[in-house]
Amino acid sequence: MRLAVIGSGYVGLVSGVCFSELGNEVICVDNANEKIELLNSGEVPIYEKGLKELISNNVKAGRLSFTSDLTDAVRSSQIIIIAVGTPSLPNGEANLAYIEQVAQEIGKSMNDYKVIMVKSTVPVGTNEKIAAIIRSYTNNLFDVVSVPEFLREGTAIIDAMNPDRIIIGTTSLRAANLVMELHRPLTDQIIITDVRSSEMIKYASNAFLATKISFINEIANICEKVGADVQEVAKGMGTDSRIGSSFLKAGIGYGGSCFPKDTQALIQIAGQMDYDFKLLKAVVEVNREQRYNVIRKLEEMLGEIEDKTIGIWGLAFKPETDDVRDAPAFEIIETLLKLGAQVKAYDPIASRNFEKNLNRPEVKYCTSAMEAAENADALCILTEWREFIDIPLSIIQNWLKAPNLIDGRNIYRKEDLEETPFAYYSIGRPKMNNGVKETNSFISF
Ligand code: NAD
Repeated sequence: MRLAVIGSGYVGLVSGVCFSELGNEVICVDNANEKIELLNSGEVPIYEKGLKELISNNVKAGRLSFTSDLTDAVRSSQIIIIAVGTPSLPNGEANLAYIEQVAQEIGKSMNDYKVIMVKSTVPVGTNEKIAAIIRSYTNNLFDVVSVPEFLREGTAIIDAMNPDRIIIGTTSLRAANLVMELHRPLTDQIIITDVRSSEMIKYASNAFLATKISFINEIANICEKVGADVQEVAKGMGTDSRIGSSFLKAGIGYGGSCFPKDTQALIQIAGQMDYDFKLLKAVVEVNREQRYNVIRKLEEMLGEIEDKTIGIWGLAFKPETDDVRDAPAFEIIETLLKLGAQVKAYDPIASRNFEKNLNRPEVKYCTSAMEAAENADALCILTEWREFIDIPLSIIQNWLKAPNLIDGRNIYRKEDLEETPFAYYSIGRPKMNNGVKETNSFISF
């Protein structure tokens, strides 16, 4: 099939490349000319494991190309995939400006029947709006189909090639058949539903996963008070097939380009219908608070933070990506600077993106994990990159001025800390001081 993908970011580029890998002819479009120039010169504007090789193979095979000419791409394609961003407006609603602009341009470019497949995450009713915009520019027949995307950055190619399910929201049999044909090589789990339910499935799924994370983070906070270990609790809970083990890792909260904005957008969608989504509001609030756990633990560990040097490992919102959108590291570093700390930060991939977005020249960006830890009064782990996990604690101890470690992602096992001099505070697990587990004296049996 001939496809045009509008918006060549984390979703559009990965989807476009994967569809070309399946043998389709794909043109990826973006209005950021520098992205297209980079892609045409063999470079990749985002970090995603395996993406560069896959792009190069499919370009060589003549199935994949890049352009900023939307009109040409639309005219030569049967299916148009919309994958532009829908970031948050200041009030939390989804900003539909990019998608509306694209709908206009598609409308003006139509030359025969097309299926417009909307992968961007959009509020209920948006696909109908997109159809109305396109209709106002053309007499050609078309169908707008909601096909929400569920890939995760860091494992995007694996996810796109092995989806748990494909949701197709449409009432058009013609469009459903074409979109099913496109996805059939990927999975048999294809669910056809109405457009509005499809739009809602995406928000409900992300809101549910965010709820699981905030739930386990609150359990972690209680575990700290009662002397339980949240990892043991999560293991015990997760083996119950009704609960499942995924998204039960306690830490410093979720970030990224999806959960924060999609939870806010769903609260707004509900609010516009006079429904107060109390549970989801609490999920968001718990997540916001959870980030400050790192600061509270540092204060407890060091006393004063002023004039202390704090090493930060990890700036991306999760490992294996350079995406820093809504990463917990922003609030944590801002707060440390406000409290008068010197901050030295390192991330294997995301430092440049982070520096561009934080705009605080006082932060020293380091080129190695060692440089960020060297002579620091404490080290905080904010992202669980494999590179950090692989560094032996005995080496970290030698780099630091004092063996103070805040593990915001619970990457170490208790056993690793035994017989070490570390003061080690993690999330939802007993503190360790000089290799000894701190017990809760206020609990008596
Ligand atoms: P992104 O910001 O990485 O990419 C969007 C791209 O669209 C950018 O390259 C931008 O230049 C381009 N663009 C904007 N306006 C354009 C126009 N008029 N013409 C052509 N290109 C244009 O965003 P993303 O992370 O890929 O997310 C895209 C959508 O997918 C969002 O709605 C998001 O919620 C959803 N989504 C994202 C993920 C994820 O993990 N990133 C997962 C599932 C769903």
